[in-house]
Amino acid sequence: MFRFLLAGAALSLIGCSSGEMSREARIDPILDKEIAQIKAVDNHAHPVRPTAAGEKPDDEYDALPVDNLEPQSDPVRQRANSPEAIEARQALFDGDKAEDKARVMREHPNDYATWVLDQIGIETMLANRVAMGPGLPSSRFVWVPFADALMYPLDNSALIHNPDQKAFLPLEERLLKRYYAENGVAGKPATLAEYLEKVVRPTLERHKAGGAVAEKFEMAYLRPIAVGNPSRADAEKAYAGRGDYTVLQDYIFRFIASECGRLGMAVHIHVAAGGGGYFNVAGSNPLLLEPLLNDPSLRKINFAMLHGGWPFTHEITALLTKPNAYLDFSEQTAFNSAHEVAGNIRRWLEYVPEKVMFATDAYPFSPEVGWEEAGWIAAKTGREALGLALTGMLRDGEVTHDRAVELARMVLRDNARSLYHLK
Ligand SMILES: [Zn+2]
Repeated sequence: MFRFLLAGAALSLIGCSSGEMSREARIDPILDKEIAQIKAVDNHAHPVRPTAAGEKPDDEYDALPVDNLEPQSDPVRQRANSPEAIEARQALFDGDKAEDKARVMREHPNDYATWVLDQIGIETMLANRVAMGPGLPSSRFVWVPFADALMYPLDNSALIHNPDQKAFLPLEERLLKRYYAENGVAGKPATLAEYLEKVVRPTLERHKAGGAVAEKFEMAYLRPIAVGNPSRADAEKAYAGRGDYTVLQDYIFRFIASECGRLGMAVHIHVAAGGGGYFNVAGSNPLLLEPLLNDPSLRKINFAMLHGGWPFTHEITALLTKPNAYLDFSEQTAFNSAHEVAGNIRRWLEYVPEKVMFATDAYPFSPEVGWEEAGWIAAKTGREALGLALTGMLRDGEVTHDRAVELARMVLRDNARSLYHLK
Protein backbone atom coordinates (compact mmCIF):
# COMPACT_ATOMS: atom_id res chain seq x y z
CA MET A 1 0.00 0.00 0.00
CA PHE A 2 2.71 2.44 1.09
CA ARG A 3 4.90 1.48 -1.83
CA PHE A 4 2.00 2.14 -4.19
CA LEU A 5 1.55 5.62 -2.71
CA LEU A 6 5.22 6.42 -3.18
CA ALA A 7 5.18 5.15 -6.76
CA GLY A 8 2.09 7.22 -7.45
CA ALA A 9 3.74 10.29 -5.95
CA ALA A 10 6.86 9.86 -8.08
CA LEU A 11 4.81 9.38 -11.24
CA SER A 12 2.62 12.36 -10.58
CA LEU A 13 5.67 14.58 -9.99
CA ILE A 14 7.03 13.61 -13.40
CA GLY A 15 3.75 14.47 -15.09
CA CYS A 16 3.33 17.73 -13.21
CA SER A 17 4.62 21.07 -14.48
CA SER A 18 5.22 23.99 -12.12
CA GLY A 19 2.03 25.64 -10.96
CA GLU A 20 -0.10 22.62 -11.85
CA MET A 21 -1.53 20.55 -9.03
CA SER A 22 -0.64 16.85 -9.30
CA ARG A 23 -3.42 14.35 -9.98
CA GLU A 24 -2.82 12.71 -6.63
CA ALA A 25 -3.26 16.01 -4.81
CA ARG A 26 -6.60 16.43 -6.57
CA ILE A 27 -7.89 12.83 -6.54
CA ASP A 28 -7.42 10.33 -3.73
CA PRO A 29 -4.96 7.87 -5.35
CA ILE A 30 -6.54 4.70 -4.00
CA LEU A 31 -9.97 5.84 -5.15
CA ASP A 32 -8.49 6.87 -8.51
CA LYS A 33 -7.11 3.36 -8.99
CA GLU A 34 -10.44 1.76 -8.02
CA ILE A 35 -12.37 3.98 -10.44
CA ALA A 36 -9.96 3.14 -13.28
CA GLN A 37 -10.64 -0.59 -12.78
CA ILE A 38 -14.45 -0.53 -12.71
CA LYS A 39 -15.90 -1.76 -16.00
CA ALA A 40 -18.60 0.74 -16.90
CA VAL A 41 -22.12 0.61 -18.28
CA ASP A 42 -22.42 3.58 -20.64
CA ASN A 43 -25.97 4.92 -20.42
CA HIS A 44 -25.91 6.78 -23.72
CA ALA A 45 -23.74 6.69 -26.85
CA HIS A 46 -23.87 6.52 -30.66
CA PRO A 47 -21.39 3.84 -31.73
CA VAL A 48 -20.80 3.65 -35.47
CA ARG A 49 -21.26 0.21 -37.00
CA PRO A 50 -18.03 -0.95 -38.68
CA THR A 51 -18.66 -1.72 -42.34
CA ALA A 52 -16.63 -3.75 -44.83
CA ALA A 53 -14.80 -2.20 -47.78
CA GLY A 54 -17.32 -1.45 -50.53
CA GLU A 55 -20.25 -1.48 -48.10
CA LYS A 56 -22.28 1.73 -47.61
CA PRO A 57 -20.83 3.57 -44.56
CA ASP A 58 -23.06 3.40 -41.50
CA ASP A 59 -25.51 6.32 -41.24
CA GLU A 60 -27.82 4.88 -38.57
CA TYR A 61 -25.94 6.16 -35.51
CA ASP A 62 -28.46 9.01 -35.11
CA ALA A 63 -31.93 9.88 -36.42
CA LEU A 64 -30.85 13.53 -36.61
CA PRO A 65 -27.14 13.64 -37.52
CA VAL A 66 -25.70 17.04 -36.63
CA ASP A 67 -23.02 17.01 -39.31
CA ASN A 68 -25.08 18.83 -41.93
CA LEU A 69 -25.96 21.95 -39.93
CA GLU A 70 -24.78 25.50 -40.41
CA PRO A 71 -21.51 26.14 -38.58
CA GLN A 72 -21.70 27.13 -34.90
CA SER A 73 -18.95 28.31 -32.53
CA ASP A 74 -17.74 24.93 -31.27
CA PRO A 75 -16.73 24.58 -27.59
CA VAL A 76 -12.92 24.38 -27.45
CA ARG A 77 -12.83 20.79 -26.26
CA GLN A 78 -14.85 19.75 -29.31
CA ARG A 79 -12.47 21.17 -31.89
CA ALA A 80 -10.56 18.78 -34.14
CA ASN A 81 -7.16 19.75 -32.74
CA SER A 82 -7.99 20.24 -29.08
CA PRO A 83 -5.36 18.74 -26.72
CA GLU A 84 -7.98 16.18 -25.65
CA ALA A 85 -8.62 15.06 -29.25
CA ILE A 86 -4.90 14.71 -30.00
CA GLU A 87 -4.36 12.75 -26.77
CA ALA A 88 -7.28 10.46 -27.64
CA ARG A 89 -5.92 9.67 -31.11
CA GLN A 90 -2.45 8.97 -29.70
CA ALA A 91 -3.82 6.72 -26.97
CA LEU A 92 -6.16 4.75 -29.23
CA PHE A 93 -4.27 4.60 -32.53
CA ASP A 94 -0.67 5.27 -31.53
CA GLY A 95 -0.61 8.24 -33.92
CA ASP A 96 -2.48 11.38 -34.86
CA LYS A 97 -3.10 10.73 -38.58
CA ALA A 98 -6.09 9.23 -40.38
CA GLU A 99 -3.83 6.40 -41.61
CA ASP A 100 -3.03 5.40 -38.00
CA LYS A 101 -6.73 4.89 -37.31
CA ALA A 102 -7.23 3.07 -40.62
CA ARG A 103 -4.39 0.67 -39.71
CA VAL A 104 -5.95 -0.16 -36.33
CA MET A 105 -9.32 -0.74 -38.02
CA ARG A 106 -7.67 -3.16 -40.46
CA GLU A 107 -6.06 -4.97 -37.53
CA HIS A 108 -9.54 -5.56 -36.07
CA PRO A 109 -11.66 -6.70 -39.03
CA ASN A 110 -14.21 -8.52 -36.85
CA ASP A 111 -14.05 -6.97 -33.41
CA TYR A 112 -13.28 -3.27 -33.93
CA ALA A 113 -16.24 -1.85 -31.94
CA THR A 114 -15.72 -4.14 -28.95
CA TRP A 115 -11.98 -3.41 -29.12
CA VAL A 116 -12.85 0.30 -28.73
CA LEU A 117 -15.01 -0.49 -25.67
CA ASP A 118 -12.14 -2.46 -24.14
CA GLN A 119 -9.78 0.51 -24.63
CA ILE A 120 -12.08 2.86 -22.73
CA GLY A 121 -13.13 0.48 -19.95
CA ILE A 122 -16.74 0.02 -21.01
CA GLU A 123 -18.37 -3.37 -20.56
CA THR A 124 -21.82 -2.48 -21.94
CA MET A 125 -22.73 0.50 -24.12
CA LEU A 126 -26.33 1.60 -24.62
CA ALA A 127 -26.33 2.26 -28.37
CA ASN A 128 -28.75 5.02 -29.35
CA ARG A 129 -29.22 4.12 -33.00
CA VAL A 130 -31.94 3.86 -35.64
CA ALA A 131 -31.04 0.18 -36.05
CA MET A 132 -28.42 -2.28 -34.86
CA GLY A 133 -26.48 -4.68 -37.08
CA PRO A 134 -23.35 -6.77 -37.61
CA GLY A 135 -20.25 -5.46 -35.87
CA LEU A 136 -22.16 -4.27 -32.78
CA PRO A 137 -22.74 -7.54 -30.85
CA SER A 138 -25.64 -7.61 -28.40
CA SER A 139 -23.32 -9.01 -25.74
CA ARG A 140 -21.75 -5.52 -25.45
CA PHE A 141 -24.14 -3.12 -27.22
CA VAL A 142 -27.73 -2.66 -25.99
CA TRP A 143 -30.19 -0.93 -28.30
CA VAL A 144 -32.01 2.36 -27.64
CA PRO A 145 -34.03 3.30 -30.77
CA PHE A 146 -35.65 6.65 -31.61
CA ALA A 147 -39.33 7.49 -31.02
CA ASP A 148 -39.57 11.16 -32.11
CA ALA A 149 -40.54 10.39 -35.71
CA LEU A 150 -43.81 8.89 -34.45
CA MET A 151 -44.80 12.34 -33.12
CA TYR A 152 -44.73 13.91 -36.60
CA PRO A 153 -47.38 12.19 -38.79
CA LEU A 154 -48.79 15.43 -40.27
CA ASP A 155 -47.44 17.87 -42.85
CA ASN A 156 -44.47 19.41 -41.02
CA SER A 157 -43.71 22.37 -43.28
CA ALA A 158 -45.33 24.89 -40.90
CA LEU A 159 -42.95 23.77 -38.10
CA ILE A 160 -39.86 24.93 -40.00
CA HIS A 161 -38.60 28.29 -38.71
CA ASN A 162 -34.83 27.94 -39.06
CA PRO A 163 -32.22 26.01 -41.10
CA ASP A 164 -31.72 23.35 -38.37
CA GLN A 165 -35.42 22.44 -38.35
CA LYS A 166 -35.29 22.45 -42.14
CA ALA A 167 -32.54 19.83 -41.96
CA PHE A 168 -34.09 17.78 -39.13
CA LEU A 169 -37.81 17.47 -39.94
CA PRO A 170 -37.34 15.71 -43.33
CA LEU A 171 -35.14 13.19 -41.48
CA GLU A 172 -37.98 12.48 -39.04
CA GLU A 173 -40.37 12.11 -42.00
CA ARG A 174 -37.99 9.63 -43.62
CA LEU A 175 -37.78 7.57 -40.42
CA LEU A 176 -41.58 7.60 -40.04
CA LYS A 177 -41.84 6.26 -43.62
CA ARG A 178 -39.51 3.46 -42.59
CA TYR A 179 -41.72 2.73 -39.57
CA TYR A 180 -44.78 2.68 -41.87
CA ALA A 181 -43.04 0.22 -44.19
CA GLU A 182 -41.91 -2.01 -41.30
CA ASN A 183 -45.57 -2.22 -40.21
CA GLY A 184 -46.89 -2.87 -43.72
CA VAL A 185 -48.80 0.43 -43.69
CA ALA A 186 -48.88 2.32 -47.00
CA GLY A 187 -49.10 5.83 -45.51
CA LYS A 188 -50.76 7.88 -42.80
CA PRO A 189 -53.80 5.90 -41.53
CA ALA A 190 -57.21 7.63 -41.64
CA THR A 191 -57.75 7.93 -37.88
CA LEU A 192 -55.64 8.47 -34.79
CA ALA A 193 -56.90 5.16 -33.37
CA GLU A 194 -55.59 3.31 -36.43
CA TYR A 195 -52.30 5.24 -36.32
CA LEU A 196 -51.70 4.30 -32.68
CA GLU A 197 -52.70 0.65 -33.16
CA LYS A 198 -51.15 -0.04 -36.58
CA VAL A 199 -48.01 2.11 -36.45
CA VAL A 200 -47.00 3.36 -32.99
CA ARG A 201 -47.69 0.32 -30.81
CA PRO A 202 -46.25 -2.32 -33.19
CA THR A 203 -43.14 -0.17 -33.77
CA LEU A 204 -42.46 -0.06 -30.03
CA GLU A 205 -43.19 -3.79 -29.73
CA ARG A 206 -40.75 -4.52 -32.55
CA HIS A 207 -38.09 -2.38 -30.86
CA LYS A 208 -38.62 -4.28 -27.62
CA ALA A 209 -38.41 -7.62 -29.44
CA GLY A 210 -35.16 -6.39 -31.05
CA GLY A 211 -33.59 -5.98 -27.61
CA ALA A 212 -34.37 -2.32 -26.85
CA VAL A 213 -34.29 -1.28 -23.17
CA ALA A 214 -35.52 2.30 -23.75
CA GLU A 215 -36.97 4.67 -26.36
CA LYS A 216 -35.07 7.88 -27.05
CA PHE A 217 -36.57 11.32 -27.64
CA GLU A 218 -34.38 14.06 -29.06
CA MET A 219 -37.38 16.38 -29.26
CA ALA A 220 -35.38 19.25 -27.75
CA TYR A 221 -33.88 19.65 -31.25
CA LEU A 222 -37.37 20.21 -32.70
CA ARG A 223 -39.54 21.79 -29.98
CA PRO A 224 -39.53 22.59 -26.22
CA ILE A 225 -39.61 19.47 -24.03
CA ALA A 226 -42.72 20.65 -22.13
CA VAL A 227 -45.43 18.03 -22.79
CA GLY A 228 -49.08 18.85 -22.05
CA ASN A 229 -51.89 16.47 -21.14
CA PRO A 230 -54.47 16.94 -23.94
CA SER A 231 -57.79 15.10 -24.30
CA ARG A 232 -58.26 12.28 -26.80
CA ALA A 233 -60.92 14.34 -28.59
CA ASP A 234 -58.52 17.28 -29.08
CA ALA A 235 -55.79 14.92 -30.30
CA GLU A 236 -58.20 13.32 -32.80
CA LYS A 237 -59.19 16.75 -34.08
CA ALA A 238 -55.53 17.67 -34.55
CA TYR A 239 -54.83 14.35 -36.32
CA ALA A 240 -57.62 15.21 -38.74
CA GLY A 241 -55.91 18.56 -39.43
CA ARG A 242 -58.40 20.68 -37.50
CA GLY A 243 -56.47 21.47 -34.33
CA ASP A 244 -53.16 22.33 -32.72
CA TYR A 245 -50.35 20.05 -33.96
CA THR A 246 -48.52 20.37 -30.61
CA VAL A 247 -51.57 18.83 -28.89
CA LEU A 248 -51.28 15.80 -31.16
CA GLN A 249 -47.52 15.49 -30.54
CA ASP A 250 -48.09 15.66 -26.77
CA TYR A 251 -50.81 13.01 -26.93
CA ILE A 252 -48.57 10.67 -28.96
CA PHE A 253 -45.62 11.27 -26.62
CA ARG A 254 -47.74 10.20 -23.64
CA PHE A 255 -49.04 7.17 -25.52
CA ILE A 256 -45.45 6.13 -26.29
CA ALA A 257 -44.37 6.69 -22.66
CA SER A 258 -47.28 4.55 -21.40
CA GLU A 259 -46.43 1.81 -23.89
CA CYS A 260 -42.80 1.92 -22.74
CA GLY A 261 -44.09 1.28 -19.21
CA ARG A 262 -46.21 -1.64 -20.40
CA LEU A 263 -43.28 -3.13 -22.33
CA GLY A 264 -40.75 -2.61 -19.53
CA MET A 265 -38.70 0.02 -21.36
CA ALA A 266 -37.43 3.32 -19.96
CA VAL A 267 -37.89 6.70 -21.69
CA HIS A 268 -34.70 8.57 -22.62
CA ILE A 269 -34.97 12.32 -23.20
CA HIS A 270 -32.27 14.73 -24.35
CA VAL A 271 -32.30 17.28 -21.50
CA ALA A 272 -29.52 19.83 -22.03
CA ALA A 273 -28.21 22.34 -24.51
CA GLY A 274 -27.52 20.63 -27.84
CA GLY A 275 -25.70 20.94 -31.14
CA GLY A 276 -26.51 23.48 -33.81
CA GLY A 277 -26.46 27.26 -33.70
CA TYR A 278 -30.27 27.47 -33.55
CA PHE A 279 -30.78 25.06 -30.65
CA ASN A 280 -33.42 26.34 -28.19
CA VAL A 281 -31.55 26.09 -24.86
CA ALA A 282 -34.44 27.51 -22.78
CA GLY A 283 -36.74 24.85 -24.28
CA SER A 284 -34.52 22.09 -22.84
CA ASN A 285 -34.81 23.21 -19.19
CA PRO A 286 -35.42 20.07 -17.08
CA LEU A 287 -38.07 21.87 -15.03
CA LEU A 288 -40.27 21.77 -18.15
CA LEU A 289 -40.52 17.99 -17.51
CA GLU A 290 -41.94 18.41 -14.02
CA PRO A 291 -45.65 18.05 -14.94
CA LEU A 292 -44.80 14.80 -16.73
CA LEU A 293 -42.77 13.43 -13.81
CA ASN A 294 -45.54 14.47 -11.41
CA ASP A 295 -48.35 12.83 -13.38
CA PRO A 296 -49.70 9.90 -11.28
CA SER A 297 -50.60 7.99 -14.47
CA LEU A 298 -46.90 8.02 -15.53
CA ARG A 299 -45.35 7.29 -12.12
CA LYS A 300 -44.33 3.75 -13.07
CA ILE A 301 -42.47 4.92 -16.18
CA ASN A 302 -38.77 5.61 -15.66
CA PHE A 303 -37.44 8.76 -17.36
CA ALA A 304 -33.69 9.06 -17.90
CA MET A 305 -32.71 12.69 -18.45
CA LEU A 306 -29.71 12.38 -20.76
CA HIS A 307 -26.81 14.87 -20.38
CA GLY A 308 -27.85 15.89 -16.85
CA GLY A 309 -29.65 19.07 -17.87
CA TRP A 310 -26.58 21.22 -18.54
CA PRO A 311 -26.56 24.21 -18.02
CA PHE A 312 -29.56 23.72 -15.68
CA THR A 313 -27.64 21.33 -13.41
CA HIS A 314 -28.96 22.82 -10.16
CA GLU A 315 -32.55 22.67 -11.35
CA ILE A 316 -32.28 19.03 -12.41
CA THR A 317 -30.94 18.08 -8.96
CA ALA A 318 -34.30 18.94 -7.40
CA LEU A 319 -36.07 16.56 -9.82
CA LEU A 320 -34.05 13.55 -8.59
CA THR A 321 -36.45 13.05 -5.66
CA LYS A 322 -39.19 12.07 -8.14
CA PRO A 323 -39.17 8.25 -7.93
CA ASN A 324 -39.20 7.94 -11.75
CA ALA A 325 -36.41 10.46 -12.54
CA TYR A 326 -32.86 9.43 -13.46
CA LEU A 327 -30.01 11.27 -15.16
CA ASP A 328 -26.62 10.75 -16.77
CA PHE A 329 -23.68 13.09 -17.37
CA SER A 330 -23.00 12.32 -21.03
CA GLU A 331 -22.22 15.26 -23.36
CA GLN A 332 -21.02 17.23 -20.31
CA THR A 333 -17.86 15.11 -20.31
CA ALA A 334 -17.31 15.95 -23.97
CA PHE A 335 -17.87 19.70 -23.81
CA ASN A 336 -16.88 20.61 -20.24
CA SER A 337 -13.83 20.16 -18.01
CA ALA A 338 -13.60 17.43 -15.37
CA HIS A 339 -13.63 20.19 -12.74
CA GLU A 340 -16.96 21.58 -14.01
CA VAL A 341 -18.58 18.13 -14.31
CA ALA A 342 -17.27 17.11 -10.85
CA GLY A 343 -19.26 19.89 -9.20
CA ASN A 344 -22.46 18.59 -10.78
CA ILE A 345 -21.75 14.94 -9.93
CA ARG A 346 -20.96 15.82 -6.32
CA ARG A 347 -24.23 17.76 -5.96
CA TRP A 348 -26.22 14.77 -7.29
CA LEU A 349 -24.33 12.17 -5.23
CA GLU A 350 -24.96 14.18 -2.08
CA TYR A 351 -28.67 14.22 -2.91
CA VAL A 352 -29.98 11.00 -4.57
CA PRO A 353 -26.99 8.88 -5.66
CA GLU A 354 -29.05 5.90 -6.87
CA LYS A 355 -30.27 7.91 -9.89
CA VAL A 356 -26.90 9.10 -11.29
CA MET A 357 -25.34 7.29 -14.26
CA PHE A 358 -22.08 7.43 -16.18
CA ALA A 359 -22.40 7.93 -19.94
CA THR A 360 -20.20 9.17 -22.78
CA ASP A 361 -22.41 10.28 -25.70
CA ALA A 362 -19.62 8.85 -27.88
CA TYR A 363 -20.61 10.31 -31.25
CA PRO A 364 -18.94 10.71 -34.65
CA PHE A 365 -18.62 14.51 -34.37
CA SER A 366 -16.16 14.95 -37.25
CA PRO A 367 -13.57 13.05 -39.30
CA GLU A 368 -11.00 13.96 -36.61
CA VAL A 369 -13.21 13.20 -33.59
CA GLY A 370 -15.10 9.98 -34.25
CA TRP A 371 -17.18 8.04 -31.72
CA GLU A 372 -13.98 6.31 -30.60
CA GLU A 373 -12.10 9.53 -29.77
CA ALA A 374 -15.23 11.13 -28.29
CA GLY A 375 -15.80 8.03 -26.16
CA TRP A 376 -12.18 8.02 -25.01
CA ILE A 377 -12.32 11.71 -24.01
CA ALA A 378 -15.69 11.38 -22.25
CA ALA A 379 -14.71 8.19 -20.40
CA LYS A 380 -11.45 9.74 -19.19
CA THR A 381 -13.11 13.03 -18.20
CA GLY A 382 -16.03 11.20 -16.59
CA ARG A 383 -13.79 9.01 -14.44
CA GLU A 384 -11.67 12.02 -13.48
CA ALA A 385 -14.78 14.06 -12.60
CA LEU A 386 -16.17 11.20 -10.50
CA GLY A 387 -12.81 10.90 -8.72
CA LEU A 388 -12.75 14.63 -8.00
CA ALA A 389 -16.33 14.62 -6.71
CA LEU A 390 -15.80 11.62 -4.41
CA THR A 391 -12.43 12.91 -3.17
CA GLY A 392 -14.10 16.17 -2.18
CA MET A 393 -16.78 14.27 -0.27
CA LEU A 394 -14.15 12.03 1.35
CA ARG A 395 -11.88 14.89 2.41
CA ASP A 396 -14.82 16.89 3.75
CA GLY A 397 -15.78 13.90 5.91
CA GLU A 398 -19.12 13.34 4.15
CA VAL A 399 -18.41 9.70 3.22
CA THR A 400 -16.07 6.91 4.28
CA HIS A 401 -13.60 5.44 1.84
CA ASP A 402 -15.72 2.29 1.47
CA ARG A 403 -18.82 4.33 0.73
CA ALA A 404 -16.90 6.39 -1.86
CA VAL A 405 -15.93 3.18 -3.67
CA GLU A 406 -19.53 1.96 -3.46
CA LEU A 407 -20.78 5.25 -4.94
CA ALA A 408 -18.24 4.94 -7.77
CA ARG A 409 -19.55 1.46 -8.59
CA MET A 410 -23.15 2.69 -8.49
CA VAL A 411 -22.46 5.56 -10.90
CA LEU A 412 -20.23 3.59 -13.26
CA ARG A 413 -22.39 0.47 -13.50
CA ASP A 414 -24.77 -0.64 -10.75
CA ASN A 415 -27.41 2.10 -11.12
CA ALA A 416 -27.79 1.43 -14.86
CA ARG A 417 -27.75 -2.33 -14.35
CA SER A 418 -30.63 -2.14 -11.92
CA LEU A 419 -32.63 0.40 -14.01
CA TYR A 420 -32.48 -1.81 -17.14
CA HIS A 421 -32.27 -5.18 -15.38
CA LEU A 422 -28.96 -5.95 -17.10
CA LYS A 423 -27.12 -9.12 -16.16
ZN1 LIG B 1 -26.61 11.47 -27.90
